[in-house]
Amino acid sequence: MKEFRLLSRVYEHNAALDARVIIPPGDDMGMIRIGGTDVLAAVDQIVAGRHFTLDSTPLSLIGRKAITRNLSDIAAMAARPVAALVAVVLPREWREPQALELFEAMRATAAKYDCPLIGGDISMADAPLTCSVTVLARPGPRGAIRRKGAKVGDAVYISGRLGGSVDADGGGRHLTFEPRVDLALALAERFDVNAMIDISDGLGCDAGHIAEMSGVQIEIDAASLPCSPGCDWRRAMSDGEDYELCFTLAADADLPAEMEGVMLTRVGVVQERMPDQPLIVVHDGGQVIDASSLGWEHGEGHPT
Ligand SMILES: [Mg+2]
Repeated sequence: MKEFRLLSRVYEHNAALDARVIIPPGDDMGMIRIGGTDVLAAVDQIVAGRHFTLDSTPLSLIGRKAITRNLSDIAAMAARPVAALVAVVLPREWREPQALELFEAMRATAAKYDCPLIGGDISMADAPLTCSVTVLARPGPRGAIRRKGAKVGDAVYISGRLGGSVDADGGGRHLTFEPRVDLALALAERFDVNAMIDISDGLGCDAGHIAEMSGVQIEIDAASLPCSPGCDWRRAMSDGEDYELCFTLAADADLPAEMEGVMLTRVGVVQERMPDQPLIVVHDGGQVIDASSLGWEHGEGHPT
């Protein structure tokens, strides 16, 4: 089953949503207007055997990741965390100390990022450990930044480094990354960011969402990609689980090389996309490669 094909069928109903829905399905978070106040919301889940290896991962890191990957979606909108809710399915053989360790990790992580846990639900089943987290947020200083909005001529930037976040044993940076909430707010405060997404499925895939929603093509310069040690540009484009930010803004914006202690790298440009042209192309030496399919599509297998 192709997740994106499935989702495009879901998005067909967006046009019928009423005026309270400010950002419909298809972005990192949805947004509704309640009594004149805009509230962002998103839900995301991690499942043992898909997003982490239960046997080799400390429960504290599983609980942490369940929260931080949702905070990464808040960062993608340049929003401020408000609160979180958690629904878990615990394997039937679990005992109270394990459950408490998991809950404490989720509570403490949420509290650390000013996103207090305010409720949830627990089920026990003959099923893999599953943590489903809903987060609420409010727009940052300049409003929510969406995937659409990239303009022809914009520069494309990446925070941090990409690739190799999942080790062969299932450990690695995908368990310990810092969600870029403060960076995103600082960026939105100082610069006119036109479009933004967090990189969960690989840059090829996620920059492709910006290109698709904005009706443009993104051209990436392979040599400029900030690759993690041991990774080439293909892995930087396709590994996923980086939880860094990809964003576009006017090419003459005077962006520093680092903000909030995080490296910022210009990796490409936004250009016009003609019908039937790929969403993402990579320039590697003299070659131009269609990179739209580099990245992980849910349901098609994953390193963890
Ligand atoms: Mg996201």
